[in-house]
Amino acid sequence: QLSGDPLVILGTGLAGYSLAREFRKLDRNTPLLIITSDDGTFYSKPLLSASLSHGQTAQQLGTSSAEDMARELAAEILVHTRVTGVDPSTRTLALQQESADHSAEIHYDRLVLATGAHCRPLPRIEGDAHANLFRINSLRDYHRFRTALVGRKRVLVIGAGLIGCEFANDLVQADFSVDLVDTLNWPLASLLPEAAGRDLQGALESYGVRFHCDRSVQKLLCRRRGLLAQLDDGQTIEADIVLAALGLQANTALAKAAGLAVHHGITVDRQLKSSDPHIYALGDCAEVDGHLLFFVAPLMACARALAKTLSGQPTAVHYAAIPVAVKTTLRPTTVCPPHPGARGHWQIDCDATGVCAEFRSDTGQLLGFALTGAAITRREPLSRECEPIMR
Ligand code: FAD
Repeated sequence: QLSGDPLVILGTGLAGYSLAREFRKLDRNTPLLIITSDDGTFYSKPLLSASLSHGQTAQQLGTSSAEDMARELAAEILVHTRVTGVDPSTRTLALQQESADHSAEIHYDRLVLATGAHCRPLPRIEGDAHANLFRINSLRDYHRFRTALVGRKRVLVIGAGLIGCEFANDLVQADFSVDLVDTLNWPLASLLPEAAGRDLQGALESYGVRFHCDRSVQKLLCRRRGLLAQLDDGQTIEADIVLAALGLQANTALAKAAGLAVHHGITVDRQLKSSDPHIYALGDCAEVDGHLLFFVAPLMACARALAKTLSGQPTAVHYAAIPVAVKTTLRPTTVCPPHPGARGHWQIDCDATGVCAEFRSDTGQLLGFALTGAAITRREPLSRECEPIMR
């Protein structure tokens, strides 16, 4: 480190904080500045879709405050501070503090973007009930949703992907009445073959979740009590509150405005380096060697590799096969999806206890798998056999 300016990490999600932790294991001395537009509370984001039924408040999910984290990481943490611009030529950040009406500038030696992703916007839905529509991608969103649920009973979830199914599983166990609408033919259709998706659907239905697959919401209308959703086949659903879970999009605007290469995420190489030699990226905002994955395991692998690179040992990241445990506790499910475009076919083995689906190439190589129910015990051997995402 030559200039005396700090290493700056932008973002206090799992990516930013995990990198800071890994970096401090290797380097206790380099000045570290962490900046976040939220309050810097450390929490595990995957718990957001599995905590309503346990009565957990947002406060209970936050395990360390920004002050605790600053102490642990020997770092300065600026909270409620938005970075509004990056100038790579002068290595300067423009900052806007929530409470102040003026902006400030700081210099960085190296910058790491860990700015996460945002919820994919809803396709146009007519009607006047949009105030009852929630999305969840932060502790604050969870707090707003949980507060809005008080005194309400009927929840409409739009999107039966990973997060939508997990919330349906959680809400139904917290005694809410749940309708789940998706344009695709079965839940988690972009990750699971039909047999596994139908198995999960059947299990959640047996606990009371009502699925409306191959359907879309056309209108959301306020009613004297709650709201009315109108589907494309004319069917109507009465609800009190709507949760949209349509997936995520990487936050790339800041990087793009700074002139960095951006594709679906911020383009970085296997050393997590962007198109500027002093700027790196990891987590939900980063497309690593062509892979944009919104999961914890890859960001942890990136945090370990990048910490080494930043402390003087250039290190490339490797992704093994990444099996994800879907938190549908009413029907345990694990997915290790094949790379989009991978050539092969599903081999399905199913009975009443669950589904084991293996995606194999013509030469028999295991490229991905999906497991439900009792078959989840096969997770470890299949993970070992499965082709890594990045060697
Ligand atoms: P984020 O947590 O979004 O953090 C981004 C940070 O950047 C925030 O601190 C934000 O304030 C800051 N920021 C952004 N822009 C600026 C700016 N301009 N100025 C200042 N600060 C800025 N993954 C799994 O592997 N398993 C699961 O079971 C699982 N469950 C999930 C359940 C839910 C409900 C959700 C939403 C996600 C789940 N995921 C799961 C995905 C996983 O949680 C994410 O991949 C991971 O948490 C992303 O962390 P991140 O740090 O990259 O982003």
